[in-house]
Amino acid sequence: MNLADCSSHSATARLLHFGSPGAIYLRRFVGSLHVGRCGSNPTHVKTLRLRSNPPKTLTVTEAELAASAKIIDGKMVAKEIRDEITTEVSRMKDAIGVVPGLAVMLIGERKDSATYVRNKKKACESVGINSFEVRLPEDSAETEVLKFISDFNDDPAVHGILVQLPLPKHMNEQNILNAVSIEKDVDGFHPLNIGRLAMRGREPSFVPCTPKGCIELLHRYGFQIKGKKAVVIGRSNIVGMPAALLLQREDATVTIVHSRTQNPEQIVKEADIVISAVGQPDMVRGTWLKPGAVVIDVGINPVEDATCPRGYRLVGDVCYEEARKVVSAITPVPGGVGPMTIAMLLSNTLSSAKRIHNFQ
Ligand code: NAP
Repeated sequence: MNLADCSSHSATARLLHFGSPGAIYLRRFVGSLHVGRCGSNPTHVKTLRLRSNPPKTLTVTEAELAASAKIIDGKMVAKEIRDEITTEVSRMKDAIGVVPGLAVMLIGERKDSATYVRNKKKACESVGINSFEVRLPEDSAETEVLKFISDFNDDPAVHGILVQLPLPKHMNEQNILNAVSIEKDVDGFHPLNIGRLAMRGREPSFVPCTPKGCIELLHRYGFQIKGKKAVVIGRSNIVGMPAALLLQREDATVTIVHSRTQNPEQIVKEADIVISAVGQPDMVRGTWLKPGAVVIDVGINPVEDATCPRGYRLVGDVCYEEARKVVSAITPVPGGVGPMTIAMLLSNTLSSAKRIHNFQ
């Protein structure tokens, strides 16, 4: 089993629960046993009998048995949330005849952005939310984008508006994000929403999806946030900064680490909760982490790997193989925060439709 290889992010990868208190979670594997992309060298091998029908045996190394970190399964939690949304969307449709609608705008030809938009559209379909898509060429005028946003702001069938970032260089991101009605700002990037997030006693209409997904994972796994020391690595407007604000609202004591921070490892080592949103593969090593900490790894970083069909694989900001031997729980990459981001977008769209139509 190579937890970092392509098999670990196949569509069939899932967690196996060994059913005992303090349970060990291991991923289903394809292929030979092998641990570690960051230098671990397993020597001892054990055989486990899985509780399955028919019973299966699984060979794992002692290094793996010692690695008791719980895997925070974002894919599974996101599925639960999507099922809840499906039920609510259909309840709303039956009760008041309203179907939530999400408008997604893609400007330019970036392949990654096109994939994200396609995934968001598919996710809407899967829960019964209507999606409206606008694609504009790279050289479109900003006024054209603003006109679409204005139309969506006025369209009663649209409850959420998302402009896929990054925008082409000639466009002013601030102008465009400010144009989205605060009542339909399901990405939560409008300065008024971020401002309210930062202020005590104010409630934002929407919270940015990725950081919201991080906190939702902590809640659904029952990790206490109140009173804990939290470190957020990264301070971007879309992940790091709102993640820090959210943790603070949950009564954690929060420190932000960024590219100019001196001795980041010493600061991270103090943290009970680490949220990393940096974009540097395997930057956070096992030695940076406090034993028993909970780690949410937002980073999605492609690294070259000739053994993978696409020639690369995705890794997080945190060196997973080292970290899972130190911490009590960690999100995998992929399969951690990524699926939660889209689930939160759907959740924000549903909340928006409920709020606009005063539906409880
Ligand atoms: P970003 O805008 O590039 O921000 C990166 C942040 O990391 C910046 O605040 C930067 O500090 C900090 N940083 C960079 N190098 C550092 C270093 N060596 N030490 C400490 N801090 C450092 O990135 P982002 O949009 O927040 O995304 C971060 C990562 O999350 C990326 O891998 C991205 O693909 C991923 N992501 C995942 C999801 C998801 O759904 N899972 C969603 C969004 C993003 P400065 O401010 O000082 O420059």
